[in-house]
Amino acid sequence: MFFHLRDPITNLPGIGSKMAEKLARLKIFNVVDLIYYFPRKWEDFGKVIPINKIKPDSKITIKAQLTSLSQFISPIKKMSITNAIFQDDSGALKVTWFNQPYISKNLEKQKTYLLAGTAKLNNQTIGLTNPTIEPADKSPIHSGGIIPVYPMTEGVTSKFIRKTINYLTTTIKKIPETLTQKLITDFKLTPLPQALTQIHSPKSIANLKTAQKRLSLEELLPIQLSILISRQLNEQPTGQSIAIDNKIIDKFINQLNFKLTPSQKTAIDQILKDMQNTIPMNRLLMGDVGSGKTIVAAASLLATSQAGFQSAFMAPTEVLAHQHYDNLRPLLNKWDINVSLLTANQKINSENLGDVVIGTHSLIQENVDFKNLGLIIIDEQHRFGVRQRQVLKDKNPKFTPHFLSLSATPIPRTLFLGLLQDLDISWLDSLPRGRLPVITKLISSNKDLDTIKSTIEQEIKNQHKIFIIAPLIDIGTSNKTSITEEQKRIAKLFPKARIDVLHGRMSSQDKLQVMENLSTNKTDILVATSVIEVGIDIPDASVVWIKNAESFGLSQLHQLRGRVGRSDIQSYCFIESDSATPQTLERLQALAETTDGNKLAEIDLKLRGPGVFFKDQQSGFAKLQLADLTNIKLIKESRKLATSLLELDPTLEHHPYFKKQIELNYLTHQE
Ligand code: ADP
Ligand code: MG
Repeated sequence: MFFHLRDPITNLPGIGSKMAEKLARLKIFNVVDLIYYFPRKWEDFGKVIPINKIKPDSKITIKAQLTSLSQFISPIKKMSITNAIFQDDSGALKVTWFNQPYISKNLEKQKTYLLAGTAKLNNQTIGLTNPTIEPADKSPIHSGGIIPVYPMTEGVTSKFIRKTINYLTTTIKKIPETLTQKLITDFKLTPLPQALTQIHSPKSIANLKTAQKRLSLEELLPIQLSILISRQLNEQPTGQSIAIDNKIIDKFINQLNFKLTPSQKTAIDQILKDMQNTIPMNRLLMGDVGSGKTIVAAASLLATSQAGFQSAFMAPTEVLAHQHYDNLRPLLNKWDINVSLLTANQKINSENLGDVVIGTHSLIQENVDFKNLGLIIIDEQHRFGVRQRQVLKDKNPKFTPHFLSLSATPIPRTLFLGLLQDLDISWLDSLPRGRLPVITKLISSNKDLDTIKSTIEQEIKNQHKIFIIAPLIDIGTSNKTSITEEQKRIAKLFPKARIDVLHGRMSSQDKLQVMENLSTNKTDILVATSVIEVGIDIPDASVVWIKNAESFGLSQLHQLRGRVGRSDIQSYCFIESDSATPQTLERLQALAETTDGNKLAEIDLKLRGPGVFFKDQQSGFAKLQLADLTNIKLIKESRKLATSLLELDPTLEHHPYFKKQIELNYLTHQE
């Protein structure tokens, strides 16, 4: 059977007007829409196994003969029940279908079938419930391999879609390639027809992976192309080239008391290269908590000052601004750079703004005037709005300053906005050497108290710092504890420890004093709310104990955990929750199982659903079915592919498919 891509779906066997209506709800109108309707997941029903080898709760495929069949309506629930016995050389198996009365009509006794499903133990015997079934003499589409599962709507089952796609085998094989052969070879891509075939019926996991990669790139390519093209079309704002003195930068790097990671070096190179351009830099520095973004920022500040330009470094909280000021001032003073601090409580007049001004939102106030602002850095950029960035950029009336924002990786939304706002991205994809993964344990308060207690006592003895996080400040509720309650409890547990508290309602002065006491060894244990989550860097903190962990989201928990494990000492994270629902438990377990922020972002995305991230986005982007926005390698690759494509074919005349895609979806929609 061969169909044209634009043929209406009703041309396919088994699709009448009723079914067409249902498919329309899935936005499937033509043959091509169905081909591009990708599975939501794939289940491995593996090879056919003998009946006597079936284990309970495993996904299996069997090949067996139908020996008995009966169908009746259950007297109480009025449900149709179909019972059958299947036999192979090794034994017999009971199979039941509920509410599928039509099943029995197509079955013939003595005929051999393939059945796939999950085996369950029921009254000591193993059976299959509602398996897929198909005659064994045809090439199977529901069993005996990796079987696709499609996103469903009422009345359209995965089984139906698999069957229908199966009619399109020849059509898919003839689908025109969208990329030129050179790109396919250079980037080692699976040809499109092959990728589309494999996505719907993969021969192996390896095949599925390469198909997913090709089709994900296919989805990202229009976005990347439109970014690059609009960059060429739109007039760039004028910036100022900053002359870089590489010798000084090398000296700066060599006198640090640690060695930069390769990705920190690459990031610095990329930033300095951008800043020498007259087109203003617009770059995002992504790195997981503790990956060392601040020092990359410091090198950029130094380079800017050396060339005679001012820079502004904005942080979301006063505590963080102070921390940066305390860390960066001694580093930069060595090069005669004048560093100043500007916060709500720390005012300086415009005449005395230094070469490098570190501060909070106060930096964007009207009366703050820079003389020649050359670089803006924003830490924890997701905490700021687009408008705030713009106000800061406008602080230089003569040219647009270079712009660098810093962010922790596990926020697909940030990445996504990064793509949209046309940012170049640098990645810190490795942690500094010698970091030990934080030992993370899910605990319950009464059972594990002894272990926690001895760990904390030991750590205090080693002069390490302890964080205890509670969701509320003064008064706890029946299921949420507060700082005040925890402070009392902790004081009883550790009578000798010096305990302090930190929360959002304290004055900035008090907060700073608390942080000062902590970093000067005057405090052992800090009981805090999640205010400590952003950016706080106490390298010798080694325990974080999170109470009522169910109150926090996955990324927030990862950020809280990121307050420890910031040097080469072994750190611990205790996640305490006594009232977790199964979903929460899944989240907490994920945290215990991995310290990889990217992986957690992926899990978060899956648990919360992509809607959270895409709700307020342009419609075109909702079409991403396969592309995983947390997959850094993939996004990099798509940018590279787009760049090569435009070099080879600037007008897209050899890539009509993408030309059309871009016209349809992106260029017309751009703000
Ligand atoms: P984040 O990326 O979370 O902002 P920071 O910049 O605060 O991380 O760095 C975390 C800690 O790691 C700091 O104490 C910093 O001095 C230290 N650090 C940064 N880079 C390195 C490195 N290459 N080797 C060792 N320690 C480093
Ligand atoms: Mg930071």
